[in-house]
Amino acid sequence: MIQITMPLNFLGTVYREIRQSLVDMAHMFDLLEQRPDVTDDPDAKDLKVDGGSVRFRDVSFGYDPERPILHGVSLDVAAGETVALVGPSGSGKSTIGRLLFRFYDVSGGALEIDGQDVRSVTQKSLHGAIGVVPQDTVLFNDTIGYNIAYGRDGATQADIEAAAQAAQIHAFIEGLPEGYDTQVGERGLKLSGGEKQRVGIARTLLKDPPILLLDEATSALDTETERDIQDALRRAGEGRTVITIAHRLSTVADADRIVVLEDGRIVEEGTHAELLAREGRYAGLWARQASERERAA
Ligand code: ADP
Ligand code: MG
Repeated sequence: MIQITMPLNFLGTVYREIRQSLVDMAHMFDLLEQRPDVTDDPDAKDLKVDGGSVRFRDVSFGYDPERPILHGVSLDVAAGETVALVGPSGSGKSTIGRLLFRFYDVSGGALEIDGQDVRSVTQKSLHGAIGVVPQDTVLFNDTIGYNIAYGRDGATQADIEAAAQAAQIHAFIEGLPEGYDTQVGERGLKLSGGEKQRVGIARTLLKDPPILLLDEATSALDTETERDIQDALRRAGEGRTVITIAHRLSTVADADRIVVLEDGRIVEEGTHAELLAREGRYAGLWARQASERERAA
């Protein structure tokens, strides 16, 4: 575990960011070794991953019991499948991600990974099985190599470079005056949004988790960067179960399945082509975003 010597105003900044992003929340809890009101069952066993299938069984949840957010969500994600969650802001997409990570416990129903209720396994093993790629990667004030190596204890330089290669940031790092030893973060080289995100992808690839949870960036990366990031994410998802929380539909059209949420309920499910043909909610969202893209172009 690294030592925390960051000034409090830095934590303040991080805290403001995590309210929007489930991922940096993961990171924050890692940093502070602090969990929410969720504890391991005394009989908790380590999660045994066999492919990494995910099942939400009639899940209900509210942050406040007076205000339910998810209403009977049932969702089966097969091992190796890529499922995109879409829907209007506030529909519950990020909440689903937080429940999978067990930041909170469901108030009704159950959530299973490879048939094991997430409440019955140790949080350490659960968190070890799920890789999260953040919309906003927080960098440590350390070398870029260290920032990638953080993904896995005992990673060798070769492991780090392989992960960077897959995340399409290796060539960029090699081009820096001090390569992998270049200092980054608040007191070092400032990386662009796209570069930081690729460091986050490399870190996750090094962890090599069977399940990947992506909280797609909302911030507008330029089109080329966005395409590079999408390529890197697609490669990262190969051979894993992937749940993508998507804000822009242009990036989810090739998911195995798209799940449309509205007010905490699944209202449509299918492939991009199936959902367009249905001319329902998804088709409406797609048409709206397409005209926004045209206006922006
Ligand atoms: P989405 O990711 O689809 O935009 P969220 O899952 O973040 O939606 O939010 C779903 C609902 O839950 C929203 O009404 C939001 O205001 C509420 N919510 C999200 N996070 C919290 C929280 N930490 N405490 C209380 N309410 C929250
Ligand atoms: Mg969200």
